[in-house]
Amino acid sequence: MITTYIALGSNLGDSRQLLASALAAMAELVDSELDAVSPTYRSRAIGPGQQRDYLNLVARLRTALPVTELLTALQQIEADHGRERRERWGARTLDLDILLYGDARIDTPSLTVPHPRMAERNFVLYPLTDLAPDLVLPCGTPVGRWRESCSDAGLEALGDSIEPGR
Ligand code: ATP
Ligand code: CA
Ligand code: CA
Repeated sequence: MITTYIALGSNLGDSRQLLASALAAMAELVDSELDAVSPTYRSRAIGPGQQRDYLNLVARLRTALPVTELLTALQQIEADHGRERRERWGARTLDLDILLYGDARIDTPSLTVPHPRMAERNFVLYPLTDLAPDLVLPCGTPVGRWRESCSDAGLEALGDSIEPGR
């Protein structure tokens, strides 16, 4: 089994319910188990135009799925939760990004792991380090060091956790 970290975000629809349902779907993935869910954060949208704040969290999943199958499965879960792909970084009901997949370093047109923008995103680093404060990235950097140098501007810890459920 590989330990993988998935970032979940939503800023359209009933985000809390969508995230709970997405976690339930991840828990039901074949050859996988949902291991832990971070506390929930609210963040200001970074995309174009006026967009609602996001709800963000990070989940730890243990899986025997190859990473390409994991990506396909996560994209299916996005689609099942009303995700439409329009403009880049537009508002969305559900976004599932693979942050880390064991110690793998992957760079293909459809998949880059570790996620290339995680170091600069407080809405990823804060929940990730809540879950795994001592995590070391494949490049050898302790993830806690990135968190220390990452401002919490626009980020609010909501102080709760979303349980998987429908
Ligand atoms: P960002 O990657 O900056 O967070 P985004 O999540 O809005 O942007 P999407 O439109 O959801 O981007 O995804 C675009 C493509 O990114 C997907 O079709 C997928 O093939 C690719 N991709 C590359 N690396 C990853 C990854 N680590 N996790 C998820 N998708 C990835
Ligand atoms: Ca994303
Ligand atoms: Ca994405």
